[in-house]
Amino acid sequence: MDLIKPQTDEQIRRLRASVVYPSVNRITPGVPQGALFEDEPIAGNASVPTATYFLTGSECRYTCSMCDLWKYTIGDTTVAGSLPRQIQWLHQEYHTLERGVEWIKLYNASNFFDNSNVPPEDYESIASLCHGFQRVIVENHAAMLGSSTIQQRVLRFQEQLRGELEIAIGLETIDPKAIRLLNKKMSLAQFDDACKFLRGNGIHSRAFVLLQPPGSPSATAVEWTVKSCHWAFSCGIERCSIIPTRPGNGFTDTMMASGQWQPPNAQQLEEAMDQVLLRTPLEHRIVTVDLWDWERIAGTCEQCSGPRRLRLESMNAEQRVLPRIRCVPCNS
Ligand SMILES: [Zn+2]
Repeated sequence: MDLIKPQTDEQIRRLRASVVYPSVNRITPGVPQGALFEDEPIAGNASVPTATYFLTGSECRYTCSMCDLWKYTIGDTTVAGSLPRQIQWLHQEYHTLERGVEWIKLYNASNFFDNSNVPPEDYESIASLCHGFQRVIVENHAAMLGSSTIQQRVLRFQEQLRGELEIAIGLETIDPKAIRLLNKKMSLAQFDDACKFLRGNGIHSRAFVLLQPPGSPSATAVEWTVKSCHWAFSCGIERCSIIPTRPGNGFTDTMMASGQWQPPNAQQLEEAMDQVLLRTPLEHRIVTVDLWDWERIAGTCEQCSGPRRLRLESMNAEQRVLPRIRCVPCNS
């Protein structure tokens, strides 16, 4: 099967059937998938205690070829009242406010400002559940942010919050060879426009940048990741999160099985982080690497997997390049 040509929504959805996804069994409507507490780096070698809530709602409308977040969603529309109840439950379960959390990410694996994903009547109660947090971070597709209806919705939610609003948007890549396979339905101009809208309205921004998405050859993948981060910063994005593209959504697995794509390895992730830090002026960047998937990409070397992870965690926190970990057993 030749996947080096763009696939339709339908084709991408059909390929999902080829993967086993045990996680889908754990998705129950109305039940959140958990919370994560970590420190987010900010300028000046400081950090902010941050909570991420993984909320259960309906699927994103976009069907990007490389995305596996659909596994964490259920149905086409989120029931009204469900998200506020989940947030309240997580607040109580984790004592989030009492533990000094300042920023909260409300991640629903889709678009926060799409009424199918977040019912309009819920924005106000979600906003009031976020009183007490300095910043609220939500995710949304950049192309949607070009619609004036969506813009009004964003601005109304911003008004309802007492703290600041930040929107996380997926840039993914500026590598043209990869873009044509992503089925992202977003042009770079639309991404730039979304950044202008956010900046013009005092809304903070972050971008997700993929390392080695399908279509981006291994030899140039790191360079395209660095270029993509630079481009995002030039649009006014305040922080970039580098995500190693992972298999497990059907399309990527099929490409991998036919030798047309391979997931990035740990060395590439280290190289990408080093290069963005080295080649971007300090005042223009907060860059982090996503380590949620580290154990899979780092392999099983007992000598270096742990120390290399720690090095990247420290680099996320300190925003500077630290000495590489040398490992004899695995020759890295
Ligand atoms: Zn090793």
